[in-house]
Amino acid sequence: MVQFVSWNRSGQFFRILYRGSGLGTSSKRTSTKLVANRQSSSIPSQSLLIANNMASEQQQPSSKFSFHPQTYHNFLVLDFEATCDEQLINPQEIIEFPILKLHGRTLEIESTFHTYVQPIVHPKLTSFCTKLTGIEQSMVDGKPTLPEVLQMVDDWMRDNGLLDPKVNSIFVTCGDWDLKTMLPGQCQYLGLPVPDYFKKWINLKKAYSFAMGKYPKNGLPFMISGLNLQHIGKLHSGIDDCKNIANIMKELARRGFTFKQTGSNL
Ligand code: AMP
Ligand code: MG
Ligand code: MG
Repeated sequence: MVQFVSWNRSGQFFRILYRGSGLGTSSKRTSTKLVANRQSSSIPSQSLLIANNMASEQQQPSSKFSFHPQTYHNFLVLDFEATCDEQLINPQEIIEFPILKLHGRTLEIESTFHTYVQPIVHPKLTSFCTKLTGIEQSMVDGKPTLPEVLQMVDDWMRDNGLLDPKVNSIFVTCGDWDLKTMLPGQCQYLGLPVPDYFKKWINLKKAYSFAMGKYPKNGLPFMISGLNLQHIGKLHSGIDDCKNIANIMKELARRGFTFKQTGSNL
């Protein structure tokens, strides 16, 4: 099946071509960008999308307009930082807990949750950890502990309407570690239940690989350079990593990619 869709957006004319199946090859036309939606989930037609007149190699200015429809009302971008050293630390503990709430259609940041977290088992950060994450001892001392932070997150979720069953949101992380390993592991250690909303997520590395045909082995830097974006802030700062994840998502959405769940603990 081939279907043409055209619309006018900010004075630009777009034409989108959907095909029923298949993976794409790059167009030779510089003004044409191709993104293959190769996710296994429920996109009506596994689609190949070509948008003409898109300056695909340039980052578009931040915009209020909507991108290709997504299936979620909100994306919740999350990136933990945790205690670490040159050798494995056991148990690892979350020391930074940022969430960016993105509008599901514009991918704009609408609300931010951010706190540093006091580690309990290994309360003193290593110099390795401070160097890696930029998180100094004074930034975690006296901060809420993980059980308190999980209550704060729940309050923030409620305040932002994210606990309404009619609102369809999903967490987005760079890799599976945050929600598959780190949070469930620390909750198990503390004897805390993991809220259900943390039990499904989109792994941005998988989404990028579906969209661009290359798995981003080194994560954020690979995706940022692959999309010709500017890196924001410090790599391994949780809040800066979230902002970069949001920018990558926005660029993939601008190129026509539809995000789907990739992971689950349910
Ligand atoms: P990231 O989200 O990539 O910044 O990393 C999350 C956490 O993984 C960090 O806070 C560290 O606890 C751990 N981590 C990341 N990279 C390294 C590394 N090169 N060596 C040791 N631990 C790391
Ligand atoms: Mg991370
Ligand atoms: Mg990080």
